[in-house]
Amino acid sequence: MLESDIKGKFALVTGAAKGIGRSSALRLAEQGVNVAVNYNRSLKEAKDVVAEIKDLGSDGFAVQADVGKPDQVKTMIDAVNDRFGQIDILVNNAGIIDDTLIMRMSDEQWRRVIETNLDGTFYCSRGVVRSMIKQRWGRIINIGSIVGSHGNPGQTNYSASKAGIEGFTKALAKELANRSVTVNVVTPGYIITETVEVLGPQFREKMLSMIPMGYLGDPDDIGHIVAYLASEKARYITGQVIAVDGGMAV
Ligand code: NDP
Repeated sequence: MLESDIKGKFALVTGAAKGIGRSSALRLAEQGVNVAVNYNRSLKEAKDVVAEIKDLGSDGFAVQADVGKPDQVKTMIDAVNDRFGQIDILVNNAGIIDDTLIMRMSDEQWRRVIETNLDGTFYCSRGVVRSMIKQRWGRIINIGSIVGSHGNPGQTNYSASKAGIEGFTKALAKELANRSVTVNVVTPGYIITETVEVLGPQFREKMLSMIPMGYLGDPDDIGHIVAYLASEKARYITGQVIAVDGGMAV
């Protein structure tokens, strides 16, 4: 295996107790990156991920925060800086769905999804850029969704939040490019995680029919690209929307 070029760096991964966030944390740890594992409700799962990070030989700790709440994000980032001294890599992964047709969508359903997915990405990114600019190196990797550019009935709130993340990514990439801080968004198709498993077999069949490769993705399909984008090898990639979706969006 090639020697990792990000060994010893420090990352914060939001929503890292499960699914895609967990995989991103572990694939970074595998490269020698120390990882702060953010969780909101899943303390036990977050502790398990920390144990796995340590088994891989990196340092890690769990840090609670609702990413949609600016005061909690500030406290979290202060805690990570206190423990690690710096944050080199931020993975904005935390996200929720709350689907319904627009006629039935409450203000609360709209607001909560935008707050977690889009506002959370903003609060966390704002919290880390100053030090990345100062050290002239940084990686911000956002997790979007193919529905951000393609849309999906019943997901106006979610699609809007993920489309917002794409615009945010491109603007921030331009703001930070001359400081060697890259900002990209990975847009998964359907990946087997809790969120997808609760949707039921009928929905799963429908999804499969839309995927040219004929199977759902694994969280590691996303975790590996996150680890690559964090590496020095990806230094010239910024402002990009990278679909990992088995050919769905082609
Ligand atoms: P999971 O439901 O498995 O995990 C989501 C994680 O987000 C949970 O660990 C949860 O933390 C965390 N989270 C939710 N709300 C908050 C919050 N307010 N503050 C902090 N953390 C929060 O989802 P996935 O792994 O499937 O999804 C991860 C990301 O990937 C999301 O952004 C999702 O939109 C995106 N995505 C997923 C796809 C898929 O097919 N799975 C497809 C396209 C995009 P806790 O449990 O601690 O509350």
